[in-house]
Amino acid sequence: MRILITGAAGFLGSHLCDRLLAEGHEVVGLDNFITGSRENIAHLMGHDRFTFYRHDVSNYIFIGGKIDAVLHFASPASPNPTSPFGYFNLPIQTMKAGALGTHNTLGVAKAHGARFLLASTSEVYGDPLVHPQREDYPGNVDPVGPRSVYDESKRFAEALTMAYYRYHGVDTRIARIFNTYGPRMDLEDGRVLPNFLKQALLGQPLTVYGDGQQTRSFCYVDDLIEGIVRLLYSDEHLPVNLGNPQEMTILEFAEIINRITGNRAGITFVPNGRSERDPQRRQPDITRARTILGWEPKISLEEGLARTIPYYKKKLGLA
Ligand code: NAD
Ligand code: UDP
Repeated sequence: MRILITGAAGFLGSHLCDRLLAEGHEVVGLDNFITGSRENIAHLMGHDRFTFYRHDVSNYIFIGGKIDAVLHFASPASPNPTSPFGYFNLPIQTMKAGALGTHNTLGVAKAHGARFLLASTSEVYGDPLVHPQREDYPGNVDPVGPRSVYDESKRFAEALTMAYYRYHGVDTRIARIFNTYGPRMDLEDGRVLPNFLKQALLGQPLTVYGDGQQTRSFCYVDDLIEGIVRLLYSDEHLPVNLGNPQEMTILEFAEIINRITGNRAGITFVPNGRSERDPQRRQPDITRARTILGWEPKISLEEGLARTIPYYKKKLGLA
């Protein structure tokens, strides 16, 4: 296939490029570098089946030649209000990537008769009142809170994707991605894993926001990419959760990171680390992914961290 990947210079997008090239496909990558980096795809420049265009997906997209699949991954994704790369500080760009970007990429899929896959998110469930989250749970989202720019743009993107499937017959898929980590996740993007690893490797206390009793479930990037590829090859049109169901509190997560890295500086509680309402519990129910795709994560947190730490050490000049 000839596959268009938006957000190709980002964390997940660049891993997807690697994986689909390794499978023998041709990849056309698109990115405007608003939160991604050239470094993530530097190794692909010059590859004979990889082409890259710097382009903002909020603007009309024209791709010459036939496209067989479109994977729309372009969007700021970090909720950290202190990060310049977070969607709090890129609110309009985030809404445009989810709304106009999804419209434009669906338009490409329709024009080319291509299959389409949307990178959606567990944030469509907001601060969920149902636990674990199944795909038929409609969510608990504040439409005007600071997170709304991300949550509602993804909810709009899902609705638009289903409209193109139902009314234009476009062959669409929706992946609801839960917290994923691994090499190439930007050290400065403010999400919990890069923050904690940076602090731990520099021998600083880990900044746990609130009381640390909020939970998350962390999936290693290779597992996630395997799920995305299986979904792309499937015929499933309704949303599918992709994530690791192993749930833990952020405090437990911090303790694991300190243990694995040998950091003796401990933990600092930051009561107002997140001024907005922080989702209290998050855990995917992956029954649909297991049944439809035969997929479940295989890489433990310890193994995933062991594969990730060398990347951050290098970034910090420690290796
Ligand atoms: P990322 O910031 O590393 O990657 C996003 C990429 O999209 C960046 O390279 C950025 O420059 C690009 N981009 C943003 N707006 C653009 C625009 N208007 N035009 C062109 N390119 C644009 O983040 P990520 O973690 O790799 O996330 C990728 C996708 O997966 C996002 O859609 C995100 O919502 C989704 N997602 C990620 C996670 C996760 O845990 N990593 C969880 C849920 C959903
Ligand atoms: N968090 C934290 N310390 C940090 C960064 C994040 O305790 O330095 C917490 C944050 O409050 C949230 C969880 O870690 O409860 C996950 O945050 P992240 O930014 O990775 O993404 P989210 O899952 O909220 O979308």
